[in-house]
Order: sequence, then C-alpha cells, then structure tokens
Amino acid sequence: MLLNPATTSFDSLDPRSREIMTQTIAFFEAMGKERLKDDYHQRRWYRDFLDFIKENHIFSTMLTPPQFAIDDADARWDTHRNCHFNEILGFYGLSYWYAWQVSILGLGPLWMADGTTIKERTARLLRDGGIFGFGLSEKEHGADLYSSEMMLTPMPNGTFKADGGKYYIGNGNEAALLSVFGKNSDTGEYVFFAAKTDHPDYECVKNTVQSQMYVAEFALRAYPVLEEEVLSTGSDAWDAALNTVNIGKFNLGWASIGICTHALYEAMNHAAHRELYGKKVTDFPHVQHLLTDATTRLIAMRLFATRASDYMRAASLQDRRYLLYNPMVKMKVTTQGEEVIDHLWDVIAAKGFEKDTYFEMAANHIRALPKLEGTVHVNMALIVKFMANFLFHPKDYPEVPSQTEARHDAFLFNQGPTKGLSDIHFHDPMLAYGPCHLPNVEIFKKQIAGFKELLVANQPEARQARDMDFLLPLGELFTLVAYGQLILESAKLQRVDDHLIDQIFDVMVRDFSRYALDLYSTTSATPEQAKHCMELVHRPTNNSDRFEWVWQNYVMANIDKYEMKP
Ligand SMILES: Cc1cc2nc3c(=O)[nH]c(=O)nc-3n(C[C@H](O)[C@H](O)[C@H](O)COP(=O)(O)OP(=O)(O)OC[C@H]3O[C@@H](n4cnc5c(N)ncnc54)[C@H](O)[C@@H]3O)c2cc1C
Repeated sequence: MLLNPATTSFDSLDPRSREIMTQTIAFFEAMGKERLKDDYHQRRWYRDFLDFIKENHIFSTMLTPPQFAIDDADARWDTHRNCHFNEILGFYGLSYWYAWQVSILGLGPLWMADGTTIKERTARLLRDGGIFGFGLSEKEHGADLYSSEMMLTPMPNGTFKADGGKYYIGNGNEAALLSVFGKNSDTGEYVFFAAKTDHPDYECVKNTVQSQMYVAEFALRAYPVLEEEVLSTGSDAWDAALNTVNIGKFNLGWASIGICTHALYEAMNHAAHRELYGKKVTDFPHVQHLLTDATTRLIAMRLFATRASDYMRAASLQDRRYLLYNPMVKMKVTTQGEEVIDHLWDVIAAKGFEKDTYFEMAANHIRALPKLEGTVHVNMALIVKFMANFLFHPKDYPEVPSQTEARHDAFLFNQGPTKGLSDIHFHDPMLAYGPCHLPNVEIFKKQIAGFKELLVANQPEARQARDMDFLLPLGELFTLVAYGQLILESAKLQRVDDHLIDQIFDVMVRDFSRYALDLYSTTSATPEQAKHCMELVHRPTNNSDRFEWVWQNYVMANIDKYEMKP
C-alpha cells in the first residue's frame, strides 16, 4: 500500500509515464544515499537533477498541455501521474521536489493566460529543460495578497515597466520564466506578468534560506514587460493566483507521503535489528503502538490523498467538491506527516540525528509542508466555510469512479471564479460511513452524530465564527469527518482489509476525542458547548487480535523491504 522503489511497478500508468517514474528512481539510486546527504549538507544546487530532467524531457512531458506539446504524444497535465512523481521526489528529498513544485506554480498563470504567444514560448522553454517560478509573496505582507506592492506601469508604446520586490520565490535564481503578481500602478488592478531571471533589470538579491533549494529575494527595477507577457489582469489575475495555489497545494500532501514512507523504512530497519536488554526494540509494547500508529496514519494519508485526486480530476464548474478535499490534502495530510515522523523519531531516538540517515533530513523537511502555500490556519479558515453544507445540506452526485486514466486535466486551467464557496454542496458522507459496521467506525459514527448535535443545539456564536482559536479545533473535528469519509471510499475502491480500516479508525476515534477536548478547553466555548464536547470523547475498541494482525501484516512487513543504495 506504500511506495517501494524496489518493487512498485506503477501498473496504473501508461508506458511513458512508468518509464519516467522508474528513470527517476534509478537516477536517485545511482546517486546513492551518501551523495544525496552530502549534497543536502553542502547545500549544493541540484544541477545534476535538473540536467537529468532536461535530458529526459520530464517536466515538459508532465507539465505541458497537449495543445502546446512539441513532438510529444505523452505531454499532458495528468494529476494521477503527477501524484506518483510528487511522492517519488518527496521520497528522495524535498529540495528536489521543490524545484518541480514551484515550476508547477509558475506554470499555472502561464497556462491560464489569455494569449497563445506566451504559451507557445512557455512550451519551448519547458522542452529546452527550463524551470519556472511563482512570484506571489512579498517580504512585508506574508499571506496578505491585497497589500502587494509590486507595480506594473503602462508605457505610451503599449509596453509596461515593473518595479518592486518579491520574497521567498523558489527557482528565482534561474527560472526560465517567473509568473509575478502585482498591481497596475495607474488603475490599482491586480496583474500577473512573466519575467525572465536572466534579464539585466532582474536582480536576484539573495537566497533567503540555507538550503539546496533556492528561495529567492528578487527585485525588478524598471523591468520592461511586453504586452504579450501580461498574463492576466483584474479579477482574472486574482483568480489565477488562487486557482494556481489550488493546483499546487495538493502536491504538498504527496510530498509528505513520500517523505514519511522513506523515513518509515529506515526506522523499521533500525528498530527491528536493534537489541536492548536482550529484546528487540520492536518487542516493546509502546514501540509497537508508536509504529502501528505511524504506519496506519501514513496509509490513511495515502488512501485519502488518492481519493482526493479522483475528485480533483472529476471536477467541473458543476462539481467543485475538490475545493474542500484539496486544502485537506494540504493541511491535514501534511500535519499527519508531522505526527508520523514524531512517532518514528520517538522510536529511533538518537539515530534520527545521524548525518548519514535519510531521517535526519526528513525530520527537518516534514515541518515545512504545513507552513507553505497557506499555513494550517489559512487553510482551516477556508475549510470551515464548507462545514454547514457538508454536514447538513448534502446533494446527490453521480458516483466518482477511480480516476487513473491517462488524460489531460484541462479543468484545472479553467477553474473559473474563486467566489461562491457557500454554494458548493457535497455528497452525503453517510453514503461511505453507513454501510461500514467495523467497531471503531461505529464509535466514530457516534462521534460524528454527537458533533452534529453540538452544532445544532449550541450553534457557534457570531463572535466565535470570527475567533480562529475556537475555529481551529472545531475545524479539526469537521476535517476528521471528511477525512474518514474519503478514507472509506478509497478503502472500498482498493479493497482494503477490514482489520486495517478498523485500526485506522482506532486512531481516528482517539484524534476526534483529542480535538473535542481542545474545543472544550478553548476560552471562548460556552459552558453548554464545553459540556457537549466532553460527550464526544470516546475510547476505541480494544481488540488485541486485530492489533496483532495489523502489526504483523502491515508494520513488521516493512522490515528490510527497502534500503537506499549507499
Ligand atoms: C521555503 C519557502 C518557500 C517558499 N516558496 C514560495 C514561492 O515559491 N512563491 C511564493 O510566492 N511564496 C513562497 N513562500 C512564501 C509562503 O507561501 C509564505 O510563507 C506565505 O505567504 C505565508 O507568509 P508568512 O510565512 O510570512 O506568514 P504570515 O502571512 O506573516 O502569517 C503570520 C501568521 O498569521 C496567520 N494568518 C495569516 N493570514 C491568516 C488568515 N487569513 N487567517 C488565519 N490566520 C492567518 C498565519 O497562519 C501565521 O500564523 C515560501 C516560503 C518558504 C518558507
């Protein structure tokens, strides 16, 4: 159920896509762990990786819409295959993934632009091995895009001059094109334009981080912008920013899954071969619990993200359910990734600091993902907007089958206006929960019913709806309902063993109880709400046979199954 570079055959992919995955794995395995870690410690820019990408036309095949493809029948934007690629890059190192990720973000406004000239140019640059970047953030303004100070001034001859700075911009050292967000200095309208990093009026000020990846501060000083390089203006530019982030932030969850999977193999191999007091470390009961929680959380992350990918691919203007599942892949999956690494680190302890391990890098990188492309808070503020419709006003939709076919996901570049979130309805989560009668799922269903009662009987007050401290635990409880729903849908499609699902819900029941206690503890919860919260606290069922089955078949089964070539 998890990626294993030694054995995964990528059966759901077409031959060219499969080749890309196996070539990429072979590239990293040939590099070996020693070199991988040395490059990481020396913070060496990954020229070899980018050369490999260029020689094999990997980004151009995977990130060019078919209508702009140059001699490439396999070129398309295919979320299913992109998920696999994200996972592989995360598995070998987040820095490599970052060069791909910010290229995706940079390409969003370019492929969403009106003009074809800039798109044809983009396709040529991609084909030549170019990387891309996304210039949204500014030093003083963080998540506050409204305050952007980058200015584009119209010139009498129909061109423009750009002035301003951007901060934290990936690939800003050598992107072939950067999509830059700013405002028209005459009208104040938002605007996206393309800038070249090799232009004399582009100054790459510095790398803001000590890392292999280049996260640039850059400045434009009277930088000339051609008319064709203005990608979008006004509400289209605003929508292009948010719709691009919609595409990009999905990848963070898959990177997290890749990181955790590699860390899991390394941790299992270490713990299973280490003897203390005449016993294997894996014989300690608390270690068994930590490793089982880590593995089941990771499998749940992957089940959820796989199903969320189906909804991304099935999306249309009539079906915008992906706008809930997508920030959950970003926010929930990446924070679950942090928990997985925490559990594993508690088991391998000092080993997790060693410079030769993948784990040492994973422990650092896993923290980045919840904070990039919108913090947990920003994503939670978005997610809670869907809560009322999701829980109380379900709508009928045709069932979405698994979406693994080789096709271009054209809708991602035509997502339309970003408004109207309160008009989005969801299918009834009970369609997934209802038929499942596993003991822990039954307990979880009671928790969901109790949560709905809390919301009806003690509806959050207007002041609470503005209080993020209150909304965070409330949003976590709601998120768990949708998380469990897609896990069950995915488990059904993938015919996952009942013992494993029940063990996953053992974790879910405990997490639900934990967040109920968090909500209870907020200063703004009313006494009635607090009382109701405590009724949501439940214990999972205790079934040692089930635990032993999962321990042997899904946890211990990972021992000595993968070790990166030295
Ligand atoms: C390694 C790295 C790579 C990056 N790459 C890029 C890139 O390629 N391109 C790019 O444009 N940007 C990039 N960024 C910027 C990243 O997206 C920013 O971190 C993000 O814009 C948030 O800004 P901030 O971290 O300064 O936090 P701030 O916006 O200053 O937030 C401060 C606090 O306020 C909270 N907050 C802010 N707004 C809200 C809200 N609406 N609701 C609730 N809470 C809120 C936040 O959660 C946080 O706790 C990168 C950052 C890093 C560290």
